[in-house]
Amino acid sequence: MDAAKEFARLSGTLFVDGGVRPSTAAARRAVIDPATGLKIGEIADCTPDEVEEVVARANDAQRAWWAESALHRAELLHEVARAMRRLRPDLAELLTRETGKPYKESADEVDWCVTATDYYAELGRHSVGQVLGPTVAGQLHYTLKEPMGVVVVILPSNFPLLLFVWEAAAALAAGNAVIVKPSEFASLTTLKFMEAFADLPRGLVQCVTGGGDVGRRLVEHRNTHMVGFTGSVPTGQAIARSCAETFKPHLIEVSGNDPFIVMPSAPLEVAARAVTFAAFMNCGQVCTSAERIYVHTDVYDEFARLVVAEVAKLRIGNGLDRVDLGPMGSAAERDRFERVLARAVEQGATVAYGGGRPEGFDDGFFFQPTVLTDVTPDMDVLHGEVYGPLAPLCRVSSFDEAVALANASPYGLGATVYTTDLVESHRAAHEIQSGMVWVNAPILDNDAGPFGGRKMSGTGRQLGAEGLDTFRHTKLVMVDPAANPQDFWWFPYSDDEAYPAR
Ligand code: NAD
Repeated sequence: MDAAKEFARLSGTLFVDGGVRPSTAAARRAVIDPATGLKIGEIADCTPDEVEEVVARANDAQRAWWAESALHRAELLHEVARAMRRLRPDLAELLTRETGKPYKESADEVDWCVTATDYYAELGRHSVGQVLGPTVAGQLHYTLKEPMGVVVVILPSNFPLLLFVWEAAAALAAGNAVIVKPSEFASLTTLKFMEAFADLPRGLVQCVTGGGDVGRRLVEHRNTHMVGFTGSVPTGQAIARSCAETFKPHLIEVSGNDPFIVMPSAPLEVAARAVTFAAFMNCGQVCTSAERIYVHTDVYDEFARLVVAEVAKLRIGNGLDRVDLGPMGSAAERDRFERVLARAVEQGATVAYGGGRPEGFDDGFFFQPTVLTDVTPDMDVLHGEVYGPLAPLCRVSSFDEAVALANASPYGLGATVYTTDLVESHRAAHEIQSGMVWVNAPILDNDAGPFGGRKMSGTGRQLGAEGLDTFRHTKLVMVDPAANPQDFWWFPYSDDEAYPAR
């Protein structure tokens, strides 16, 4: 594949009814390679007419899809997984060029898409309801799981393929059609990704590009039936408010500000490597990045020394080279991150490593992996999502204090604890208010286990059996095969059951 030609082919297109097609929109946005600062393509702000057409095609395709057997849907979803595997090298290269993440992380992302698709291919045909113990002898009481209809998936740029698949594979397995509105910063790779769905009926999976207005139009459309949103809190709130008008079901996965607790019993060298990975993977642009690192005072100084030594080993550069850390996703994001860091220093934090733009990388949106010490619980840096290459180390005097600080946050996505103390690990699992708790196993996911947040991190779950039900209605069905009179509660009421005083 020639990446430049591929970006040119996909520029200004949408994926509708089984193929890419140039958008008629005049409005275009430049796509910039974050590692070079160079323009690599452009995306269209798809028009209202194009949105109408995509929604109409999706509704037609969904009816036909749901009329198929569950086995046939499973077989085709396995074909989709195989196509993803075939496209892996091309997708990984485009993803790195468009978002900046190291090639290994891009290739991993495609692999995780494959396993999630295979998982949902089978789960979707496993069960479509449940037979209940009847409340009336001789009757059949059961539930049916039915698709929502057309699911709109609106995404950020940090894991554009994986976050799409976590929702789309479940939604498709549940019998829905899917329309994706990718991030403005990852649309070209998403358009390429549409090739993986070629074996599905035309119109079942489609992609429209553009900004918030295009997303809003899809969310508000009377013929879309559910919204899966991943992104920032203000956009998630706007979408939830809009959905409330018609009680349109919605899944909201938004920001995190995850704690990472290090206790004296932890193997410190391992914990230092762990926090380096959890804070700097994808340049810290992960919703479950380690962002508030609470370290017990007995090991704080030693741990800080080990973390600095680990971070110093990270190789920074273009994600297509042999590096561990690429650039941030955009110039605006780097500017925002620099303001967060400057405020932390102004409030008294010490830069123990990094702290500036690396030399020799002037064209891209690079920033050094940065370690802060002397961070105290009151500092702003611990009270909002950082979403950049930062590891702020805050000293705590006890496990109780660490858990209290972990919970003193409006967010509740994930949390990591490093300890080999059985009581502490058990308490962390029970006491931390978050969707995921990782004990010595930071930021792992499992297709078979639910992913999602509490509090301001969102509502609902992706992945696992819960992530399938997210995209299904449950219908109760009650049948009396003999059509018997239901005299145990029908008219006329017997005198024996009237108010006794009359
Ligand atoms: P964002 O909210 O700015 O944009 C996300 C998407 O919403 C984009 O596609 C955008 O075009 C669209 N959008 C914007 N306004 C809209 C509107 N009014 N109606 C419909 N769509 C609209 O988010 P971002 O900056 O791209 O993403 C970063 C955020 O995503 C971070 O906060 C990160 O933590 C979060 N995130 C969360 C998870 C999770 O699973 N909880 C995963 C990854 C990223």
